[in-house]
Amino acid sequence: MTHTDAQVTTCQYIGTELGYTRLQPTCSSPSLAGRSYCAEHIHLVYQKGTARARRKKDERRASAIWDLESAFNEAVEELINEGFDLT
Ligand SMILES: [Zn+2]
Repeated sequence: MTHTDAQVTTCQYIGTELGYTRLQPTCSSPSLAGRSYCAEHIHLVYQKGTARARRKKDERRASAIWDLESAFNEAVEELINEGFDLT
C-alpha cells in the first residue's frame, strides 16, 4: 500500500444540478492531483459565480415565458368556458 495519506482521491462534487439524484450524492470520479474535484467538475466549482448569474438570467426568462403561457392558457380556458370551440 502506497496510499497512506488522507488526501482526497475522489471528486467531492455534490450534484445539485439537474440529472443528479440522491442516489448519486457525489461524483466519485478520480479527482485531479491535489484537488478535490475531477476534471469534469473542477471548472463547475470554480465558475459557480458566473454560472449562477447566468442561471438567474435564464430563470427570469423562464418565468417570463411561464407568465405568457399561463396568461394564454387562461385566455383559452375563458374562451372554452364561453362555449368557444377551439378544435
Ligand atoms: Zn466530478
